[in-house]
Amino acid sequence: MSEIRFDGKTAIVTGAGGGLGRCHALELARRGANVVVNDLGGSVDGSGGNSEAAEKVVEEIKALGGKAIANGSSVTDDKGVQKMIDDTMNEFGRIDIIIANAGILRDKSFTKMGMDDFELVVDVHLMGSVKPIKAAWEIMKEQQYGRLVVTTSSTGLYGNFGQTNYGAAKLGLVGFMNSIKQEGAKYNIKCNAVCPVAATRMTESIMPPAMLEALKPEYVTPGVMNLVKEDAPTGMVLSAAAGAFSMSQIRETKGAFVGTGDALTAEAVAAKWDQITDDSTMTHFEQGGGHTGNFINLIKEATGG
Ligand code: NAD
Repeated sequence: MSEIRFDGKTAIVTGAGGGLGRCHALELARRGANVVVNDLGGSVDGSGGNSEAAEKVVEEIKALGGKAIANGSSVTDDKGVQKMIDDTMNEFGRIDIIIANAGILRDKSFTKMGMDDFELVVDVHLMGSVKPIKAAWEIMKEQQYGRLVVTTSSTGLYGNFGQTNYGAAKLGLVGFMNSIKQEGAKYNIKCNAVCPVAATRMTESIMPPAMLEALKPEYVTPGVMNLVKEDAPTGMVLSAAAGAFSMSQIRETKGAFVGTGDALTAEAVAAKWDQITDDSTMTHFEQGGGHTGNFINLIKEATGG
């Protein structure tokens, strides 16, 4: 296996003042990248903030002999995001990698959740990933090179009590990835998602100490390096925890053609329910067209047309 290096490349890691983002930023720097360490420096619910957290990580990178600059903007602030992009270009002249990692939690049951908590969480995770990518998009197109990672969550893929806001935002990021990977393909811009489990301030209160010890955030980072390397995949959700890795995918059954006109009744659908839901026929589609194509094939098979 050849060594994975990022010499001459510039990476922006959002929310890199601590937790997973800090580990990604440090590892990119160790492997030769110039790194922009973004972090608002607020608390886990998104309140408060200053650039100290980002500056500390920049000092760590410099102590390793790496090159880095700090950025204390919120990823939701258009002007701050533009300044981050401008400062990156002025300092390093390119933007090759963006790891959109910044995030907050405002957990509450849906019954108790105010719409302000819902909107803020969607804004930070979803729009806070989209805005830096949008601001760097033309630069990456011009360079004919870009490696993007968004950070999803098992809550987005599978759900978790008290996290309707977070889950909606996190699966939204997978939807974003699925389309942007197609728009970026001809410019050599790839986009993947990481679905981590790690002991950080986000999870320290919900996991027992032994589990937290096994779930070091630095155990996720080697997987992320594979999502931003030169020959990275695109459109992949890499799940990662405690040194173990897997691929998560949206799949669907082959399904069944039920009929049209008078033959298409609720009862006729019920009669084919076992075939419609037969999970031994699961397939993953690379794009929405594959999903539509599957239906066309079913109709052709059923009608011989
Ligand atoms: P963390 O709280 O240590 O890191 C999040 C960082 O984002 C913080 O340093 C915070 O200051 C920063 N941040 C928050 N809002 C910001 C904003 N508006 N602008 C810029 N920076 C901002 O938690 P973490 O566990 O390292 O989380 C990193 C990412 O991983 C998050 O997107 C989180 O949702 C995701 N994630 C974590 C886990 C886990 O098990 N830790 C699981 C699934 C997903």
